[in-house]
Amino acid sequence: MNRNPVLPSLTLPTEPKALRSIDLMVSQTYTGHGFLALDALPRVALEAATRSPDDGFDWAVETFFDGIVGGEPRLKMNLNLKGQMHLICQRCMQPCLVEVEESPQFVFLANEALADAFPMEDDALEPLVMDSQFDLLGTIEDEILLSLPLIPKHPEGACEPAALRSGADDSMNQDETTKKPDNPFNILKNMKKKE
Ligand SMILES: [Zn+2]
Repeated sequence: MNRNPVLPSLTLPTEPKALRSIDLMVSQTYTGHGFLALDALPRVALEAATRSPDDGFDWAVETFFDGIVGGEPRLKMNLNLKGQMHLICQRCMQPCLVEVEESPQFVFLANEALADAFPMEDDALEPLVMDSQFDLLGTIEDEILLSLPLIPKHPEGACEPAALRSGADDSMNQDETTKKPDNPFNILKNMKKKE
């Protein structure tokens, strides 16, 4: 969907470092997409319990100007994030897979004061500050960190067996001791073993 047939649209770089400085103070819009491994997301990587080759995040961005009645068109940005990483499960203390899928929309405002005063109604539109060196990578990191669960856990019943093994052994021992002692066949077997 092209909302801005008049304005040129530039393709964003995919190289992570280049995403640290995007010039928004120009009459053009951006589109782009790519994949960010945890190595490219230092603040997110700090949260990782372990790293699997599939961990990381696909991102897609489009910016567009949105007209408002009686005012200047505002620059907005759609971000799509989809990916996964591993956090520590707070039940079994083993790594658990956490999947992220977010589609936040942002509006760029002229300065920090306007952004701070922007009404945050049902999180529909998140305010950012216009910048000739906009840190898109940092914004992606913020969104991932915000979407991570505060208390990560495996799904119910899916915790790592290693951490639960002692409990499983206990229940097996209980089964042994609760066997009927007067079963004649068991007694016979035990007698045979002893001989
Ligand atoms: Zn667990």
